[in-house]
Parts: sequence; structure tokens; C-alpha cells
Amino acid sequence: MQNNLHIYNSLSKKKEQFKPLHAPFVGMYVCGPTVYSDTHLGHARPAITFDLLFRYLMHLDYKVRYVRNITDVGHLENETLGEGEDRIQKKARQEHLEPMEVVQKYVNLFERNMEQLNTLHPSIEPRASGHIIEQQELIKEILEKGYAYEVNGSVYFDILKYNEKYKYGKLSGRILEDLQSNTRVLDGQDEKKNSFDFALWKKASTDHIMKWSSPWSVGFPGWHLECSAMSTKYLGDVFDIHGGGMDLRFPHHECEIAQSTAAHGKESVRYWMHNNMITINGQKMARSLGNFITLDQLFSGDHPVLQQAYSPMTIRFFILQAHYRSTVDFSNEALQAAEKGMQKLMKAIETLDKLKPSATSTVDIEKLKIKCYAALDDDLNSPIVLSHLFDGVRIINLIAEGAEKIDAAGLEAIRCLFNTFVFEILGLKNESTDKGNEKMTDDLMKIIIDLRQTAKDSKDWGTSDKIREELGKIGVILKDKKNGAEWEK
Ligand code: ZN
Repeated sequence: MQNNLHIYNSLSKKKEQFKPLHAPFVGMYVCGPTVYSDTHLGHARPAITFDLLFRYLMHLDYKVRYVRNITDVGHLENETLGEGEDRIQKKARQEHLEPMEVVQKYVNLFERNMEQLNTLHPSIEPRASGHIIEQQELIKEILEKGYAYEVNGSVYFDILKYNEKYKYGKLSGRILEDLQSNTRVLDGQDEKKNSFDFALWKKASTDHIMKWSSPWSVGFPGWHLECSAMSTKYLGDVFDIHGGGMDLRFPHHECEIAQSTAAHGKESVRYWMHNNMITINGQKMARSLGNFITLDQLFSGDHPVLQQAYSPMTIRFFILQAHYRSTVDFSNEALQAAEKGMQKLMKAIETLDKLKPSATSTVDIEKLKIKCYAALDDDLNSPIVLSHLFDGVRIINLIAEGAEKIDAAGLEAIRCLFNTFVFEILGLKNESTDKGNEKMTDDLMKIIIDLRQTAKDSKDWGTSDKIREELGKIGVILKDKKNGAEWEK
């Protein structure tokens, strides 16, 4: 299988040609959400970035296993120090819910928001709490190899020991001396040999809810461990791509590298990919700054920062307008511009559907197609792809005005180009036709239900039954209610 895809490897800090270990198979692991609160803008960016990669790899005919975990245990409030209360347990305590009720609520919300953004479901979405045994096995391996130690029922990763043979900090560029001088001494750190050692297993206090028995104590796994355990389980000791937000490089991904290398004696990830962050009006997004916007708020416009509602496709288009390694700044002006751009693109596609071929052609579609592929092959450069597609929009409008001509083969080529890039690879949708289709369906169903009612009123049971049966065959169920029939798909 041939491809010319080059991706920026955060580990080598270079663009490298993508060569899967076992073509045509590709293994890709992306760190997913910790499900303890509403889905927000920060979740949208990695989801869309790696959805674009997933879609493009499949377009190139690879068989991709895309694994994105759900963190439902072990992610503590202070993730850098690995301290504080478990985020899910804290929410459960505040809202008087079972931890798994918190998890289910926010998993459902996350999935709904991701579907609204038109991201495809990963192949596997494993949960940390469903892989406690795998995590314990990994701890045993690391202990056996001598890179971890047990204290009072907790197990910690021994970074100094690891650093004798391997190099801790190679992904983030953090060096041990910096870590040593920057780490504050806090309560509970005294049982570690060094303050920067991180927990593989933590002994649970008596009031801790989410805990499991283990050879060391009744406790729970450290946050970093789940990704090493689950990526190995589903993708093998060595796999192609590991992705996530740039904020996860340290300590999370650095710890993942250390754990996997300590256990298997080799690096497990071949290409590390990190998407950059989102800012809002130039500021970091934070609850304390009052600019924390959930996806539901964006879609409804219900937030003081927002001048209007922005549709999921506007958000997707806006995120794709920036290269995934650049920062993206959200502002009303920028979102409104994205909305206009998106509408212009979709309107051109509607025009394209109506174009009639001429006998000759004055436009070159092949060149445009080559440029679109070249942009994607260059580290998924979606903004450049979009700019080429807007060249295509200009061509479409010129043809519609009669200023350019296109023959039948050219017309087929440009329709194929727009279908492939806009819908299949960039994953955009035409929301106005979606809405138009929904309304049309509603109107049609109303006519059908009225006709059936007329048949029933005149005791024409044959016709009324036939309507119900035929609708049933296409998956539409009629339910007779007191004030008329209702339908559902
Ligand atoms: Zn992870």
C-alpha cells in the first residue's frame, strides 16, 4: 500500500513519512475524556483532529483500529502532582450519586456532543474501571523489572532507577533537575523516594468509594497506568500512533512512555501526535475566568460570552480552519466568519448538484485534487485543503455564471472531489439540507397520517392497514394515540 502521508512526530520533533508497522492495519490510541463534567471546547479539538486522521487513513484504505479510552477512575484533581480527590468521586459526593452514575451521565453527554460534531465512533472505547486486572498485571511487570517500589500498600514508579537505563522526559523535554527543583513538598509525598515519582497503585483511604483489592492493598490505579495497559491490550506492545492534547505531554504521556518502556524494554509508540490548545478571546479557557464554554452552550448560544448560537458544523469548520498544531482562538467574530465560510461552501455544493455539463471544459479539476491530497499528506494541513476547496467554489460559481465551462467527465470529477474532501474526509455536513430534509419528512408524514385517518373514518381498514404495514417495512412505526397517530423511526 502506497501513501505519501507525512505526520509531525512530537517525539522526534520532525515530520516523518507515515509507515504503519503492519500495513494495511493501523493502530491508533487517543487519550479520551475524564467523564466528570460537561463536554467543552477543549474536548472538541482532539476529537476532531483525530477524527480527521481516522477518516483520512480509512480513505487511504488502511484498516484502522482506533482506541479512545474513557477515564472513569484514578484521575485526581491535581494531575501534575497526582494528588487530591478522584475527580469522579468528588462529583459523586457533591451530587449524591453513585460514581458510575456520574460516569454514565457524562459519557452519554460526550457521545451525543461528539455525534453532533460528526466525529466517527472509535473502534474501541475501553474504560479504566473495566481494566483493573490488566493494570495490576502491568504493575507486577514493572515491579519485577525493578522500576517500581511498594510503600504502605501503594506502588510508585521509580524515576531515578528508570533514568539509569532509559531517559525520562524525552517527549516533553523536561529534565530531572528541573523536576527536582520545581516539585513542591506536600503532604503524603513523604512515602515516595522522590517527589516526582508517580503512583501506579494507591492505597485507598476508608472513605474512598472506588477501590479494588490487589496484592498491595485495597486501592485504585494511578491515572497514567490505564493508557499503557489498554493500548497494549488492544494494539500490542508496539503500535503506530498515539495522540492527545498538547497539555497531556507532561506528565501523562511522559509517564505512559516510562511505564511501557519499563515493562516491555522498548518504546511502544512509533508516532506521537499532539493537537494544540484552544483559547477564548486570547485567554486560556478556565472556569475561574468565566469563559468556560460547554459544547451545549455553544450550540444553544446560552453563555454571556456568546453573541449567538453556533451550529456543530460551524465549530467543526472553525477547528479545521486551523492546523491542528496551531493554537485556535475562539471569538464571536471568528466564529461568525467561519459560519459564513461554511455556508458559502455548502451553497456552492448545492450549485454543483444543479450544474449541467458542456461539450468542452475550460477548467482543470485534476490539479485541484492533487493539491488537496498534497495538503493532507503534509501533516493533515486542513486549512490549506479548505483554501483549495474555496478555489473550487470559485470555479463552481464561474461555471454557474457561464464564465467557465465544464464537460461531463470534469463535472463528475469535481463532484467526486467535493464529496470526498468535504463530506468523507473533513467530515462536514450540510446542516441546511439536514434541516430541510427533516422538515420535509415531518410534512410528508403528516399527509400520510391524515390520509390514513380518512381511510379509517370511512372504515376502509384495508387501506389503513396497508399504510401501517408499508411504513413498518421502511422502519417507521405508527402509534395510535387519543388525539391522532404519532410516528417514530
Ligand atoms: Zn492517556
